[in-house]
Amino acid sequence: MSTRELIVLGTAGAVPTRRRNHNGYLLRWGGQAILFDPGEGTQRQMAHAGASATELHWLCVTHFHGDHSLGVPGIVQRLGRDGVPHDVHAVFPAAGAEYWTRLRYATSYYGSANIVEHPVDGPGATLPGDGFTITALPLEHSIPTYGYRVAEPDGRTFLPDRLRAHGISGAAVRELSGALLEDCTVPRPGQKVAFVMDTRLCDNVFALADGVDMLVIESTYLDSELDQATERGHLTARQAGEVARACGVKTLVLTHFSERYGESDDPLFLDQAGFPGAILAHDLDRIPLPARRTR
Ligand SMILES: [Zn+2]
Repeated sequence: MSTRELIVLGTAGAVPTRRRNHNGYLLRWGGQAILFDPGEGTQRQMAHAGASATELHWLCVTHFHGDHSLGVPGIVQRLGRDGVPHDVHAVFPAAGAEYWTRLRYATSYYGSANIVEHPVDGPGATLPGDGFTITALPLEHSIPTYGYRVAEPDGRTFLPDRLRAHGISGAAVRELSGALLEDCTVPRPGQKVAFVMDTRLCDNVFALADGVDMLVIESTYLDSELDQATERGHLTARQAGEVARACGVKTLVLTHFSERYGESDDPLFLDQAGFPGAILAHDLDRIPLPARRTR
């Protein structure tokens, strides 16, 4: 099967630090990569990670604060420079269209990519990809912000033993239906990934994260800054862990850390999240999607 993995390009909140670049998350999904929230320096982080602009098919921006979007000009220009032949779909809050246009045309550059714009507003939208959908739902931050959920439809996996037992092979396999299909296959739940930032706790955080294989979620603050988190529209590590537990998430990835914390605080984020196997993201981490859920 083709690779499905998250490449973490940056993990800082508003201010990059010596060990954390601005945000940037590349979700490799077979041959179509989705880039979320390219902050400043994302193009170079992609080079460090061995990822190329030609992989990109989707560019999803949660909101137009700089740590989530200042990398857009570099990425757009690189798409043109590398002559990316396919469409690249850009999804972003419609309320920030003015910022999007400025970023897309920030400087003079050569070449152009086929960028298809999908501004989202109101209650959000579900967009069709090749073998998956991308759903955008509004979150609660200081400016209009949308979280994203990538979902593959459920399917069925053929059981070679059962096919042999029924003497079914070749083109006949594709014709199967009804009870025979039931007997020769098992359900194959589609894989799902949620990308949640920046927001205070709200219903859509849970809607996005419901039952996902991987939840990538901001945990800007520790408990000691809970009031500030709520006031500024951010989450704490404890809240991120609560969401993961409530939603039956398989892999929890914490990121988007305030610059006030140092390396010695890393264990506190994991302690307060309190979620088994939670991953505290570092720049250039590669995190595979967990094995498929079984029935
Ligand atoms: Zn941010």
